[in-house]
Amino acid sequence: MAPILLYTGYHAWRESNMLTPNQRTLRRNARCIGIGLHSGQPVSMEIRPAAAGHGIVFERADEGGRTIRALAGNVLHTRYQTTLSENGTTVATTEHLLSALYALGIDNALIEIEGAEVPILDGSAAPFLFMLREAGIQDLAAARRVVVIEEPVSVVEDGCSIEIEPAAGLAVAYGVDYRHPVVGGQRYIGPLDLRTYAEEIAPARTFCFLREVEALRRQGLALGGSLDNAVVVGDDGVLNESLRFPDEFVRHKVLDLVGDLALLGAGLVGHVRAERAGHRLHTRLVQEILERRGAWSLRPAPRASESAPAPALQPVAASSTLAAAL
Ligand SMILES: [Zn+2]
Repeated sequence: MAPILLYTGYHAWRESNMLTPNQRTLRRNARCIGIGLHSGQPVSMEIRPAAAGHGIVFERADEGGRTIRALAGNVLHTRYQTTLSENGTTVATTEHLLSALYALGIDNALIEIEGAEVPILDGSAAPFLFMLREAGIQDLAAARRVVVIEEPVSVVEDGCSIEIEPAAGLAVAYGVDYRHPVVGGQRYIGPLDLRTYAEEIAPARTFCFLREVEALRRQGLALGGSLDNAVVVGDDGVLNESLRFPDEFVRHKVLDLVGDLALLGAGLVGHVRAERAGHRLHTRLVQEILERRGAWSLRPAPRASESAPAPALQPVAASSTLAAAL
């Protein structure tokens, strides 16, 4: 099979607001009201600034203010979304909000939520990104530390895989293959700087297959789902008026990946390659990285003057059937 080109670097450090030298938080509170995709229940949420070193923390206002830190060790389950649990309480569907926070380099915030599930809004991260930008972002007087991958770390399970290897910045190659006439093989390859994320990833909506909707609802899932907050895939096409991108499905997987990688609790420098992965493999990769202490180093995020060189394209051997679908 002929080699394919994979993106092995990304824009210079200074162009990536994901990993600014200093820790960040919000300037003002950001507030929204919506419904939970799975619970169908209305929920209000307010995201507040927090001090350096605080991290991203959910606070269940409806459960006496019990808190749940957004860390991989607090993953409870990953069935269709990522649920976190700590201090005897839970918060579900965390990944789209965490994705937007990570993309903006916001590593400190208190998310007060009046319910068990982050509101789904339009099913993408774009409303969160807009809301957080409107609230404003401020640098804090504390250095950001990032996990720099030095040796490959991988997780393989049931024909699905995810790995991360050393790179100049955060980049991703993500392949999906649903073996469905509407959603066949799709692949997204690119750097994950803020601009790329905002334009190409954040607007991609969550999706489900019509033939699975009844089964999901019998399990108490997708009760708040509609064409306003998800792409619904029928046997002959999508039920929505249109897609936002022809490959919106794999772009949403990248969105989910970024949100799950945020559970590392630090910036990340490495190249992620995922094949038919999902929340379970994303979060298992983060847990594996944390366990493989010798595979990475914790370093201060570099200043603009220490920018990495421009990205390079390198040929690598195509190793999966997904590559053939490119
Ligand atoms: Zn999602």
